[in-house]
Amino acid sequence: MALTRYGELRNQLMRQNFPNVFAPAVLRDADSNYVPIPISERLVQCIWYDQRLKLDALQTTDGRPMRIIFQGWWNLEAGPDFRHATVQIGDDAERTGDIELHLRAEDWNHHGHEHDAHFNDVILHVVLWEAGSQHVPRTRAGQIIPQIVIQHQLDTALEQLYDEIDLDSYPHNAGNHHGQCAQVLRALPTGSLAAMLDAAGDERFAAKVRRFTRWIHRGGPEQAFYEGWMEALGYKGNKLAFRTLARRVPLAELNDQRSQLASILFGVANFLPTGVPQSRDSAAARYVKRLWNTWWKLRPDFEARILSPETWRFGGVRPANHPHRRLGAAVALLKKDPHFMEKVVGAIQSGGDPAKLFSEIRDDYWNHHFTLGSKTQSRASELIGENRAREIVANIVLPFVAAYAENDGDRKLHETAKARYAGLPAAPSNSIIRLASCQLFEQPSSARRYIKTTRQQQGLMQIFQDFCLNDKSACRQCQFPDLVRHWTAPQPES
Ligand code: SF4
Repeated sequence: MALTRYGELRNQLMRQNFPNVFAPAVLRDADSNYVPIPISERLVQCIWYDQRLKLDALQTTDGRPMRIIFQGWWNLEAGPDFRHATVQIGDDAERTGDIELHLRAEDWNHHGHEHDAHFNDVILHVVLWEAGSQHVPRTRAGQIIPQIVIQHQLDTALEQLYDEIDLDSYPHNAGNHHGQCAQVLRALPTGSLAAMLDAAGDERFAAKVRRFTRWIHRGGPEQAFYEGWMEALGYKGNKLAFRTLARRVPLAELNDQRSQLASILFGVANFLPTGVPQSRDSAAARYVKRLWNTWWKLRPDFEARILSPETWRFGGVRPANHPHRRLGAAVALLKKDPHFMEKVVGAIQSGGDPAKLFSEIRDDYWNHHFTLGSKTQSRASELIGENRAREIVANIVLPFVAAYAENDGDRKLHETAKARYAGLPAAPSNSIIRLASCQLFEQPSSARRYIKTTRQQQGLMQIFQDFCLNDKSACRQCQFPDLVRHWTAPQPES
């Protein structure tokens, strides 16, 4: 059947804008007619996820036999397509790492992966088309990455796979991707499952308390708390960058130079231009110029502490979460109150709402801009939304207060922090919770039936971290089903 006008236009536009991720292919249909069908990278991802390959006879482009022990976790964040896969190639030992998939071998370079440190852990490049597969992919460090071309190693003709695979349902509703523990968990009484998730959630909380205890011993409570909430503002890709910045510019130093703290933080973050700033938007130009006017005088004192540009991750970040804007939020928090930590601890002691201390910050510039130098947005948007503020309370404030109380010998405050944590309602889902729900429950919707609190969500993430991320056997050698059986087994009488 001829392509519709919509299909023609779509192919034309996609070819122009995404020449390397979208390639309509002409394939032979069941009646031996040639039909154009759009083959996208997403289809290749689904094929890999479902392992629709001749698994017993796989060969890399250099002719070595290959075995896939685990295809990896589908990555919904920026970075390689699959994480934590395990493969064995030729006589080499099994390797665990990331997998990147493309339509063509040269897409590795077209997408700039050979310069991107986030692709350093790729252990296999999977490409669909044979043509051009002599191209050799390399990591940023120059390491050659093994490559497999799957065009002639599929378990079914590509046309048929295209018909069978429902692209919209991947990865969460594609079925048959749950782990071996799903059956064991299904047999567990609801009360036991809830108790196990609570216990795993408590273990995660305790690990965070221990981490804050170490930080308090190293730099004191104010610095520990500052590093904690700075790290949280780095949200996913920039956590380490924000924490590094907080260590390079300690809170005590910022408090001594409060009128200059924005210039110092943006300067040490390496976000300010080296020359006189230019911008067409006058509000942005004034803001950047103001920071820069102070920074160029301070710069020699901070030179050795300036972060390298590679520290930051800008790709795959929504404009509202751009690191510039997140740092703007940090500046607003720091400016708001030099005794911020005491206020937060006081809110826990008095039964107040610590989330408001994060969500109620305002800034003339950052409420209307996404980056330094960007256009002014007519509608103001919050610097730290309510959901993010509640996440910070669960992950940073409560474990910090528990550690702080423990350090101070304040048992009552410690118990209050733990009780507040146990009472938090479930937070909006995230990609780890969705992935873990898919793996551990036969239906992701069942997970929603069982998981009612933040503590249980954290428990689920802890199980995923403890077992799924350490498993290199596609569940076969995982100990979690055993743990579940022991959890249910009656304890011997003492
Ligand atoms: S690795 Fe373990 S915990 Fe994860 S899905 Fe498989 S059996 Fe379950």
